[in-house]
Amino acid sequence: MITLRHYRQELELTHTFRLARGASDVRQTLVLELEEEGLTGLGEAAPIDRYDQDCASAARAAEAMAQHLTSPLAYDSAASSVAVPGEVAAEAAMDMAVCDLAGKKLGVPLYELMGIDPRQAPVTSFTIGMDTPEVVEAKVREAGEYEVLKIKMGSDEDRQILEAVRGVTDRPLRVDANEGWTLEGAQSRLEWLESMGVELVEQPLPAGQLEEMRELRRLSPLPLFADESVYRAADIPRLAGAFDGINIKLMKCGGLGEARRMIAVARAHGMQVMLGCMVESSLAITAAAHLSPLVDFADLDGNLLIDNDPFVGVTVKGGRLVLPGGPGLGVRPRADPPEKP
Ligand code: MG
Repeated sequence: MITLRHYRQELELTHTFRLARGASDVRQTLVLELEEEGLTGLGEAAPIDRYDQDCASAARAAEAMAQHLTSPLAYDSAASSVAVPGEVAAEAAMDMAVCDLAGKKLGVPLYELMGIDPRQAPVTSFTIGMDTPEVVEAKVREAGEYEVLKIKMGSDEDRQILEAVRGVTDRPLRVDANEGWTLEGAQSRLEWLESMGVELVEQPLPAGQLEEMRELRRLSPLPLFADESVYRAADIPRLAGAFDGINIKLMKCGGLGEARRMIAVARAHGMQVMLGCMVESSLAITAAAHLSPLVDFADLDGNLLIDNDPFVGVTVKGGRLVLPGGPGLGVRPRADPPEKP
């Protein structure tokens, strides 16, 4: 018999998070605890308000899903039938909790259960949010050991922001335009960004503008990655030719199983893969990190942007993701003592 508990946690952002779409200081996420025979599987949902999700709707969806759960070891085949339409963050949290529980039942880390070599984990980028050039410079100095920086753009001050960053570091940069550009303005921006040592650009145009994206990609000197244009594996074939790669996020796609299908479909279309995240604690970030050895670029820094992370899991050493060796996700509450090896 599997029982579900859930609670909200409030994550405090180190810096007010500014995007082309707005700003915020705190984020609420929902933690799931799935218990069976004395073992507890943990999952986390970071609901996305753009898609009309919040912690209350995620909690209702998780309760509905839990009623149909039989064995965590049979979840992969049951996942699509227990999911609640529209509640993708809840689906991702349930998927994580089930994977955690399955790994704990079998006594192996999730990466081992999935046949993934943790030594192949990539470096992760560290996001610098939109701000005044002075604050951006300060944030870059705080970014310490991270070898790659991701700069959020999509305002009139894009040039000043990037010049401020380049003034204090020569590290590789990735740019996320968050749908903030137009086709007319994008080409010259891309040429300029290439000259500034930027290695890729995420979602330059609004999600629906696929024809414009095809045209932009023909002219672009830099690889272009889809984020807001892609949710699940079924979205990928129509993006081939419009983007060079995709950004997979567990909260967009519904969990590790779908994320693996997305990696396979993207590869089949000759596309590159980035693994991204929302603002999440180390619980959900660690779940995504278990897949990171399979991708080209990791942008798993949601837990690094908060001051009160309630969990400990994946760490970063020399800029590279280091997966925890405990069973399942290998995540524990920050207050608990470390596991004995
Ligand atoms: Mg993005």
